[in-house]
Amino acid sequence: MSKVRVATIWLDGCSGCHMSFLDMDERLIELAELIDVVYSPYVDAKEFPTNVDLTIVEGALSTDHDLKMIKKIRKNSKKILALGDCAITGNISALKNLFGTEAVLKKGYFDLVDFNESGEYPSKMVPKLLDKVIPLNEAVDIDFFVPGCPTPADAIYEVIKGILENREVDISKLTRFGK
Ligand code: SF4
Repeated sequence: MSKVRVATIWLDGCSGCHMSFLDMDERLIELAELIDVVYSPYVDAKEFPTNVDLTIVEGALSTDHDLKMIKKIRKNSKKILALGDCAITGNISALKNLFGTEAVLKKGYFDLVDFNESGEYPSKMVPKLLDKVIPLNEAVDIDFFVPGCPTPADAIYEVIKGILENREVDISKLTRFGK
């Protein structure tokens, strides 16, 4: 039986949800028999591949690059799982919405720096901030939502197994928003 092609990516997240993925510990060996990780911070693939069965996305959408990536992910993935509160609601990543993009840039590139040679915000090599941080489902359709900050490893395991076995799982006792 061919393995299920799985990708993972973090957009505007802290990597905490990806750390929880690793916290599945020995269950990763069991999953490795069933899935191929074709793109992820855990592997060295440079380009997001085509024909992915399941993409697990951590983090909200903060930049034009994030927006481009989530649209490509949607095009190339049969299913998308939004992993963690940032991906589902914006959560910590969206705190900057309280102040606005201009204020965040000013704080980061002027107020808190000792020296800014150009006297301008960077416009090359770094992606452009969106006017507002948004959760994934404001840009594309999402198939699965798994909350938590970070999402506990037990919930990630149960959901992935459920998807692989094409059955519904109840994760209400394993995770919740803010947990
Ligand atoms: S949900 Fe929490 S742990 Fe996950 S990326 Fe966001 S801040 Fe980090």
